[in-house]
Amino acid sequence: MNDNLKVQIKIKDTYRTYILLFLSFLKKSLMPVYSTACPRNCYSTCSFKVHVENNRIVNIDPHPANKSTPEGICIKGLSYVERAHSKDRILFPLKKNQKGNFDKMSWNEALDEISSKLKYFKEEFGPKSILFYAASGMSGLTNEFSSKFWELFGGATSMYGNLCWPAGLEAERLTLGDNKHNVPWDIENAKLIILWGKNPAETNIQQMIFIEKAQANGAKLVVIDPRRTPSSERADLLIQPKPGTDAALALGIANHLIQNNWIDQDFIDQNVLGFEEFKLSIFSYSLKKISLLTDIPEELIEELAYDIGNLKPMTLAPGYGMQRFTNGGQSTRSLLALSILSGNIGKPGACFHYANLQSYVFDNVKEPMSYYPEIASNPIFRRSISMAKLGKDMLSAKDPELKMIWVERGNPVTQNPDTNTILKAFRKLEFRVVIDQFMTDTAKEADIILPAKNMFEQTDIIGSYWNPYVQLKPKVLDTAGEVKTEPEIYYLLAQQLGHSKEEINKYIPDPGNEKIEDYLKARVKEFPELDWEKLKEKPDIAPGHQEIAFEDLKFNTPSGKIELYSIKAKEKWNVSPLPTYEPLVDEELSLKKKYPLQLLSPNTKNRIHSQFGNLNAIKQFSNGPEAIINASDAIKRGINDGDKIRLFNDRGELITKAKLNFSIKKGCVVYYNGWWLQEGGTPNLLSEGRETDMGYGSAFHDCLVEVEKNE
Ligand code: SF4
Repeated sequence: MNDNLKVQIKIKDTYRTYILLFLSFLKKSLMPVYSTACPRNCYSTCSFKVHVENNRIVNIDPHPANKSTPEGICIKGLSYVERAHSKDRILFPLKKNQKGNFDKMSWNEALDEISSKLKYFKEEFGPKSILFYAASGMSGLTNEFSSKFWELFGGATSMYGNLCWPAGLEAERLTLGDNKHNVPWDIENAKLIILWGKNPAETNIQQMIFIEKAQANGAKLVVIDPRRTPSSERADLLIQPKPGTDAALALGIANHLIQNNWIDQDFIDQNVLGFEEFKLSIFSYSLKKISLLTDIPEELIEELAYDIGNLKPMTLAPGYGMQRFTNGGQSTRSLLALSILSGNIGKPGACFHYANLQSYVFDNVKEPMSYYPEIASNPIFRRSISMAKLGKDMLSAKDPELKMIWVERGNPVTQNPDTNTILKAFRKLEFRVVIDQFMTDTAKEADIILPAKNMFEQTDIIGSYWNPYVQLKPKVLDTAGEVKTEPEIYYLLAQQLGHSKEEINKYIPDPGNEKIEDYLKARVKEFPELDWEKLKEKPDIAPGHQEIAFEDLKFNTPSGKIELYSIKAKEKWNVSPLPTYEPLVDEELSLKKKYPLQLLSPNTKNRIHSQFGNLNAIKQFSNGPEAIINASDAIKRGINDGDKIRLFNDRGELITKAKLNFSIKKGCVVYYNGWWLQEGGTPNLLSEGRETDMGYGSAFHDCLVEVEKNE
């Protein structure tokens, strides 16, 4: 081929490429594009744009209007393209047969059987013989139709407490009077950032954008975590305390700040209640004592104390893992003391970055109060089953005993503490209904499974516990297969139970997305600052949102001040009015000798609790379940990398494979949260159902284990 011909072919190829690119651009630009938001229980609550073609999600782009998530979504978000149309999705009602397998059933059969059971249990044992369990699988205002159905039904037994973060929420509410923090992008203004038990590089990836900008501006990044994590790889200082000793570390630093006069005395004098009492109470927390308790060298504690006292402004961002120990509330109060003593509240770059509930404007009762049994919305509900103690409480429920469970938006078999007891409690019931998109471990326990909608199949409105936006999540796809949305399921079931349309409409709208949108439009109208049409285009800042939380120095506590000393903490939770360090319960029970290793079950970048792990898009990044062990702990036990091992304690066991390295502190084992039983086992096979010291949280991280080779 001569040179001239080669050049001509090259020009033609380039020309063809440009045409193809142009056509693909044209095709994409002609597709309907919708602004939406991720409704998972995840900090980021990303906004994004979905492209829809032939009733399929074909592309997902970032939505620049959300200043918190400008660069787009994570791998889980991208996997919505697969998740929405997965071949594994449950698309019609299923009924368990005698062999334990599931057969397809019609909606008529399903509604008929469920309504007959509901009537029978109600008449024979009362409505409270039915347990209504819902968790955080998908957020949205329309979730409230579930409890409205049970109200119409005449009541039910329901849950109190929460699996996630209430110990920390309550600690912050008692101390500052509210759960709010500065907008996510404000971290750029910090000169010191402390990620205390938080790993945003995996669990809140958009936060890293602002952390990295702050670092580029000269901020120091400190990570406090028993593990080396992708976040700690970017830090200037990593401190690896013994798990559960966070309060001891914080109180020791607080004492050092006071002794060296590295505190903001003016801020304390004007805004803080209980400083003198606090000062006296921590006087004995010497560096030496704290070093022994936390297993951190004194010099490192001193360096951290110096930074907190002298590098301003400081943003302290605790994760949620630390407060899932039995001492979680008091530990959070102890960390808060560091932000308070150093005057790092209510200023740009300075905040306690734990939870920001300012966008939950539609909630009448906000978290954590909404979890409390004594604040039941309606007395016809018996709020007696603890999220933390689900299995034990189900088994011990009396007057009436539980006969049936209804599960939605959750996977309690793997996600609540003490899986073995939960399975026992489920199997003791006479009837189980589960609504889900996939065949989870909980769905497998059901007698009837109803197919759940996905996030694209019904309009809803969501807030965020991290960013400041109210977001509209529109219906962009027709429901797949025979899927019905939950409000429609409730409507049809109420009809089947004999309620008239008028009665039902007092609680639940007629079926159809238009009716749902009418309901949501009316809710939006409650706020003149919000506009439905604008929300369709982009997220909007929540009415009344403070960009710099507490900048007015107004604190909604009984004294109107920041309460280092909280008499409410004593009255409500029977803890000291001051922040204290309390040893962990498993250790107090002298289990340490028998089970010397602390189990850590952190979240990973690939899952939101037990969601997403079943998708191929996610599986390709995973080696399957494994326990990460410090190599020196493993070698002592004759365990090599890749060996089959048994993790165990008195509560259960887990067979998995060992991964050895030095990234985690000696004395700890990591097994990630979210693995299903059918994938190899959940860490909750080993956890105990215990509540946290405040907030009715779940203290599943208080969990000692031993590990041995499984020949
Ligand atoms: S899971 Fe979290 S980070 Fe990922 S898309 Fe959803 S909100 Fe964003």
